[in-house]
Amino acid sequence: MGAMSPDPLLRALEGIVGAVHVLVDPALRAGFESDWTGRYHGRALAVVRPSSTAEVAAVVRACADAQVPVIPQGGNTGLVGGGVPRPGSTGVVLSTRRLDSVGAVDTSSGEVVAGAGAPLGAVQDAARAAGWDVGVDLASRDSATLGGMVATNAGGEHVVRYGRMRNHVIGVEAVLADGSTVGRVPALRKDATGIEWAGVLAGSEGTLAVITQVHLALVARLDAHAVALVAFDDFASVARIAGELRATLPSLLALEAFFAGGLRRVRDHTGLPSPFADDWPAYLLVELATSAEDAARETERLASVLDRHSGVRATAVAEDEAGAARLWAYRDRHTEAINAAGVPHKLDVTLPHDRLVEFTERVPGTVAAIEPDAELVLFGHVGDGNIHVNVLGLDPDDATVDHAVLQLVASMHGSISAEHGIGIAKRRELALTRTDADIAAMRAIKHALDPEGVLNPGVLLPDPR
Ligand SMILES: Cc1cc2nc3c(=O)[nH]c(=O)nc-3n(C[C@H](O)[C@H](O)[C@H](O)COP(=O)(O)OP(=O)(O)OC[C@H]3O[C@@H](n4cnc5c(N)ncnc54)[C@H](O)[C@@H]3O)c2cc1C
Repeated sequence: MGAMSPDPLLRALEGIVGAVHVLVDPALRAGFESDWTGRYHGRALAVVRPSSTAEVAAVVRACADAQVPVIPQGGNTGLVGGGVPRPGSTGVVLSTRRLDSVGAVDTSSGEVVAGAGAPLGAVQDAARAAGWDVGVDLASRDSATLGGMVATNAGGEHVVRYGRMRNHVIGVEAVLADGSTVGRVPALRKDATGIEWAGVLAGSEGTLAVITQVHLALVARLDAHAVALVAFDDFASVARIAGELRATLPSLLALEAFFAGGLRRVRDHTGLPSPFADDWPAYLLVELATSAEDAARETERLASVLDRHSGVRATAVAEDEAGAARLWAYRDRHTEAINAAGVPHKLDVTLPHDRLVEFTERVPGTVAAIEPDAELVLFGHVGDGNIHVNVLGLDPDDATVDHAVLQLVASMHGSISAEHGIGIAKRRELALTRTDADIAAMRAIKHALDPEGVLNPGVLLPDPR
């Protein structure tokens, strides 16, 4: 887009949201211009903070008229650079954080309507207070917003039981690039009147619309939780037992894996004590959630599966909230501990279940062949075949290792993004696991909804050849 002089646009934006919500001071903009990992950053003309759907629509229209790109941003916890300005191009960051209302939970149907800028944690609190719960959970829960979670089709720690964000969205309201508002909120659980906006926008990463409201289906709140951390000799045992736990435990809520190197990073960063007397190569964190009546039977089932496995080296079990939080910290604090050690290259990938172990054995060689001194930290949602590959010690602007790892994933019939999206980080590699026909169709949808390329240009789709 060929941008006109910014001043009239800034005046128009101030007229829409009030001068105090148009941030132009570099110090105020800074937190919106750099991503969570510190790897992606650029400069925005301004950060605009609308507080209603009508204001979002007017902001988008003003930017479209001025031919200035709009970069939608929620909690800015995304890990692929899609929510921050790109180097060398200026746009307006549209922050949804003031769209943070959480409506009353409908206790009979288990539903809630919230603003797209509502943080997941606030929605979880409201749901739990009403006897319900949100079926998606992420370690970034205090900042990640519902709109960002739909836009990335977030996964998280409970996918093994409840599926991804898309599965929980009854309806959305959103503003298109021409400033028109689409979608219906509150929506209906069944509404077969054509294309669903929730489906179109799940995974669209801010390139098709700015989501303004989300109508969410909740899940039953389960009060009996048990968490076990289990140590193993090798990851092959972790993968094997994970499959068996899925088949035998109806109460399974989470299945998370990590390795000795990641645990060491977490302990160095947090000062947490070692979970066991000895160190072991691989760890599995299991959470069960069920009703009080079924709790004893489910924990016995878990114990009997663990007892049968020769690879189990040590087990710690927590049955109260504080103990569970202590065990979860070893897993949940991986992302922050890795970030504290440097600017990581983060490659979030999925492998077919039967190639997961092979991948963890091959990826160190792939990285070392290019950068022998790089540090590799793997962890992930093992129940979903999802491994987070983190590489420390690389130049932030050199993607050679990233490309090699993603090629390995593609050669093993995996996906180059499990849950974080494509953003700017992986758009050049999109064709590794999506066909030319897929990409052409995505491009056609983008062009139909946003012919001028107002919304998040440079994100998700590769440049046309
Ligand atoms: C510690 C940590 C743990 C994490 N764990 C997980 C995990 O387990 N699973 C997982 O899936 N992710 C995880 N993430 C990544 C991140 O939290 C998710 O991608 C989340 O969905 C992003 O939400 P956000 O509001 O922060 O979006 P942002 O980072 O602000 O934006 C992400 C993308 O969505 C677009 N977007 C944001 N809001 C809107 C909107 N209203 N309308 C249209 N587009 C929008 C942006 O343009 C951008 O492309 C983690 C991140 C951190 C820091």
